[in-house]
Amino acid sequence: RKPIVAIVGRPNVGKSTLFNKIAKKRVSIVDDLPGVTRDRLYWDAEWLGHEFTMIDTGGIEVDSNDFIMASVRRQAALAIEEADVILFVVDSKTGITTADEEVAALLRHANKPVILAVNKVDSIKDSEAVYEFYGLGLGEPLAVSAANLLNLGDLLDAVVAEF
Ligand code: GDP
Ligand code: MG
Repeated sequence: RKPIVAIVGRPNVGKSTLFNKIAKKRVSIVDDLPGVTRDRLYWDAEWLGHEFTMIDTGGIEVDSNDFIMASVRRQAALAIEEADVILFVVDSKTGITTADEEVAALLRHANKPVILAVNKVDSIKDSEAVYEFYGLGLGEPLAVSAANLLNLGDLLDAVVAEF
């Protein structure tokens, strides 16, 4: 099978925006696999000849604060279980939040490669916001802007290098 790349992160960091920029078309394994829950979206993607399947584990997201922690924890657990590479998305505009730290703690113990994308770095003047994310203990944070299509090539290079 193709390598699986799971996108994780708390609500509103830009996971779906990033997913939509990278994805090619929806694939059907959601309905075809028994026991696959509906809160995961699977899509085909391709970068420089490397084909892979992407999962947006936050397909159904809760907005209530009471459920965010449970939701991101579950998302991270699913990703750790299913993915070959985990794409952890955080938000440069908010900085590190408690939910980010919680996901990072789970991912640090996973025996899977993690790519840390700091989204919403929309221009060069925002780039300093990236440094605090070294504090998550997941290696080098990569600045991207899903909305402005900035550095998505570098991000995908880092992802496919783990296959
Ligand atoms: P998700 O909840 O993590 O899936 O986040 P969404 O993709 O739904 O995006 C949440 C909000 O962030 C939306 O209002 C997006 O338009 C905005 N957003 C996503 N990517 C960027 C970005 O690169 N820059 C900025 N400034 N906003 C973004
Ligand atoms: Mg989303």
